[in-house]
Order: sequence, then structure tokens, then C-alpha cells
Amino acid sequence: MATKIQPQPGILDIDIYVSGKAGVDGVSEVIKLSSNENPYGPADAVQKAFRDASHQLHRYPSTDHLPLRQAIAAAHDLDADRIICGAGSDEIITFLCQAYAGVNDEVLFTEHGFSMYRISAQAAGATPVEARERERVTDVDALLAACTDKTRLVFIANPNNPTGTMIGGNEICRLADGIPPQAILVLDGAYAEYVQGFDGGAALIEARQNVVMTRTFSKIYGLGGLRIGWGYGPKSVIDVLNRVRGPFNLSESQMAAAIAAVQDQDYINMCRDKNTGNRAWLADALAKLGVPSDTSTANFILARFRSEKEAVECDAYLKSQGLIVRLVKGYKLPNCLRITVGDEASCRRVAHAVAGFLGVNDDANI
Ligand SMILES: *Cc1c(COP(=O)(O)O)cnc(C)c1O
Repeated sequence: MATKIQPQPGILDIDIYVSGKAGVDGVSEVIKLSSNENPYGPADAVQKAFRDASHQLHRYPSTDHLPLRQAIAAAHDLDADRIICGAGSDEIITFLCQAYAGVNDEVLFTEHGFSMYRISAQAAGATPVEARERERVTDVDALLAACTDKTRLVFIANPNNPTGTMIGGNEICRLADGIPPQAILVLDGAYAEYVQGFDGGAALIEARQNVVMTRTFSKIYGLGGLRIGWGYGPKSVIDVLNRVRGPFNLSESQMAAAIAAVQDQDYINMCRDKNTGNRAWLADALAKLGVPSDTSTANFILARFRSEKEAVECDAYLKSQGLIVRLVKGYKLPNCLRITVGDEASCRRVAHAVAGFLGVNDDANI
């Protein structure tokens, strides 16, 4: 018998998020390079803070996240009153869509943009709209051309995932200036810390009323498993987002870990430096094997193969060698593999395995 129970319009159109694989059947020792995690994990002080917080598990957490907001504000020289914290930056993206986009509204992002923009837009009942990129780089003209009087949110990740490319401050300004008056520009800075001296767009937020930035502890801070992210924007927007936020959306354990993490910027600088070196080495080693990639500004590279078939076969070969990377056909990049920059040994293993797959002698590399 047909049921009358139906979800809201648009919900059944949502494709469930596919995360990076964590294991390979029949292979016990794997190196996971599929989710852009920090291979070094969090700073030592973070584990201690998390353990200490375990003594208070019976207590409800603070609802206003004040100590964490103050710690983030101090580290980044921001106004704590205009920070909102969430269960990963994914939750901030969800709040933005829920609060600002609904039926008949459009949420704009780029061709190879992060899949949560589409999912959150659809969950809010809004219409996802894609603007093309120019050779895997965000194209401000295409985004501006795709804006309409229904556009409510414009999401770009800078650096972008899965392309690794980024656009400069002048282009971002031009985008913020050109979007329609009812729209908010959201700068997703999940990888901002990998770019030395980059503020993720914080200065632009001070100068404009229509820009919000999202940040995360999942990537360079090495805390993907704990689910902590934050957003920064005009007070009026943050006030709106706090109305849709659950009062206890973060546990004390999460907040304690995040405070310790953000207070150890030496560790973050060390992780950035290592990533920069290993990324350059990996990109260069693969290029020598005939596998190019765009200049990446994040903690992964997007390796381009000659065909979808070659990318799929290389992915399978890497898996057989215990190396898990990411096929990105779902991001309309079927001939590419996104490879997280691991530690030095992992980078060497990837280069060696790709050489083995291609049947190229790589003695010079190893
Ligand atoms: C990883 C990632 C995030 C972070 O998600 P969290 O929910 O904070 O773990 C956000 N945006 C992009 C583009 C990402 O790649």
C-alpha cells in the first residue's frame, strides 16, 4: 500500500555524501590518503586536554562556547562575538543554508565545488546552481554571471577541494562586490592554514557586510575525528546562525581539545612547513612520471591521468599496495585522483607505486 508519509521536497534528490575510504579488503597495513587528514595528528597538548575533559562527562557543555571563541579570537586576532562554533565546518554550512536559503532560492557554487554545498542547499529546500570553473580554478566571471535575484548564498572554498587551486584577494573582492544585494559570499577556509600568511578572508569580512568565512579543526589541526569547526562574519549574520544552532552542539571534550589545538600555533606552523615540502616533492615526482597536477595550495594534490580508465586502474593498483587515495568522478573529475600529502615516507610510497603502475623505472626518486 502506498504510504502517505513523504519527506520535504528535494530531500529524496540528495545523493548521500561519500567519504574517503578507510580500509582495503585483505590488506592489513594501509596508508589512508583519501580524506585530507593531517598525517601527524594533533599537537600533544590536545590529547591531554581531551583526556582531562573526560572527568566531566556527566556535565552539560557550555552553550555559548565562550572559552573556545576567545581562544580562536586571540589566535587569529578576531572579534570573539562574531565567531560561531559547530560540529565541523559542515555544520556551519548547514546553518547558513537553513537560515538563508529555502524553496525558490538558489545556492551557488562552482563546478568542482565541495559536495556539502549541494547537500545542505537541497536539505534546506533550495535549488543548487553550479558555475563552471576555468581549468579547475574558480572563475569569478562565471559565478557573477550565474547570480540571479534568487541567489542567497555563494560558496567557494579557497583553496578549493578537490582541485587544490586558489584565487587571489582581488578576485575575491570582485566577487564580494559583484554578487546581488540579497546574497552572502561564504569563503570556506578549510585549507586556509596551509597557505602561509593567508587570513582566509578575515580582512574582507571586516570591510564588508556580505561575507562569511568557515574554518575547521579537521584538517591542519588534525582533529577530523572530533568534529569542530567555526564561522566568522558580520554580527547580524552570526546572530541569525545562533538561532538555528542547537544549544549543546559541541561537547566540552571537543571544546577542550580545540582550545589546546588553537593555542599551539608553533605546531601548526611546523605542520604547514612539512606539508609544503612533501607536497612539492610529491607533485614533482609524479610530474616526472608523466602525471601532472595543478599547483596545489592545500594538503593534497589532484593528479591528472590520461583517461578515466587509467585513473580507475591506478586507484585499484594503489589499493593493492595498501595506499588509499580518492577517485573524484563525483566532482566531475573522472580522470583524476586526489592524493592527500602524507608524511615523507607515504609520499615516497605513492610515487613508487604510481611508477610501478605505469611501468616506469623510478630509481632516481627512491
Ligand atoms: C574537509 C573540508 C571541510 C571541513 O569539514 P568539517 O566538517 O569541518 O570536517 C569543509 N570544506 C571543505 C572544502 C573541505 O574539504
